Amino acid sequence: MDFESLIAQCREMIDNPLHPEVLSWKEKTGGKAVGYFPVYSPLEIVYANGMLPVGIMGGGNKLDVERADSYFGSFVCSIVKSTTELALRGDLKYLDGIFFHSICDAARNLSFVFKRNFSPQLFVEYIHFPQNPSSPSAVKYLVSELERVRKKLEEVNGRPMTEENLKQSIHAYNENRRLMQNLYRIKAEAPHLLSTPEAYLLTSVGNWLPPEDHSMILRAALEEVPKRKIRPRDKIRVVLEGSFCEQPPLELLEVVDEAGCYIVDDDLLLGRRWYEEEIPLDGNPVHSLAESYINRARYSSVSHDWRRPRSQRLVERVKQSGATAVVFCIAKFCEPALLDYPLFKDVLEREGIPHVSLEFEEKMWTFETLKTSVETFVESILFD
Ligand code: SF4
Repeated sequence: MDFESLIAQCREMIDNPLHPEVLSWKEKTGGKAVGYFPVYSPLEIVYANGMLPVGIMGGGNKLDVERADSYFGSFVCSIVKSTTELALRGDLKYLDGIFFHSICDAARNLSFVFKRNFSPQLFVEYIHFPQNPSSPSAVKYLVSELERVRKKLEEVNGRPMTEENLKQSIHAYNENRRLMQNLYRIKAEAPHLLSTPEAYLLTSVGNWLPPEDHSMILRAALEEVPKRKIRPRDKIRVVLEGSFCEQPPLELLEVVDEAGCYIVDDDLLLGRRWYEEEIPLDGNPVHSLAESYINRARYSSVSHDWRRPRSQRLVERVKQSGATAVVFCIAKFCEPALLDYPLFKDVLEREGIPHVSLEFEEKMWTFETLKTSVETFVESILFD
């Protein structure tokens, strides 16, 4: 399949809110599907139990939020409301369970809204990740939390998960992440060959597929991208920061691209690319997962690793990717991202790295104002 057909196939998958691929996986395997709210979830344990982890991405800009508004206050991000709306409409019926995580107050409240309204048909679990990875007890604590999750899944599934099952699952996700890293490497080295909207489509379809099937799509894309005949354009190289949870509309990513930016690194769909290195396969696999979370994870505004401050890691990313600027792309009312913004801004200004900030919500149709902001920003750098 050529690259354009591959992208068209991914776009079709992302546009269908009922995700028939999950249902056909369930029919084929007789397994259960377990959703996970962003940012990160231990997919390896879910998959090792013979269940399909399904990424929850909110409702996008095609969903009308009609009933979910009454479950929350006004100042809440879109993904929380649209995920509730999807569940109220019955559009998440293909799920047997769902995980939420300790990322922010909005996600915590959402988990209780789900528990109250949609269980027991849907099992709802809340995973507490360690807030202080620099504590000597962090790995030990996370091992116990992951063991709790493992037991819960075994109970729901009615069968035990072996160490070998988990190692195979870790292996499949290691390979899947390695392929996504290769995709991102192309995006950094030759951004004219692979745009961010294209890389985003190729990455996001993994939300509804087993890792092996997603890896097949990525391999096909990696083979096709170098064959494309596209000439580089005079654009600035930027890092996109702030979209680690709620995802910006695809049209917004296209606008940033059209306004003169090559996005050479980003934090879109961060949970799927959570580890910077492979999770080791020797030793106890639950311990390996926990230890990797503490020592090999990417940074984000929902985890607080004081050993390597996030602002320092943002500057490192900018330098490593050869970017000249940062575009903050932050979901409206996203507290973790908005609270980090002044800290990032201070450090970038000290380092002389230009930046611009864009705010988005899922339900956006017009992007002209944002496009003008980015174009003005790009011109200020190009003609400085
Ligand atoms: S978008 Fe921000 S505020 Fe909303 S659930 Fe995600 S992290 Fe929390």
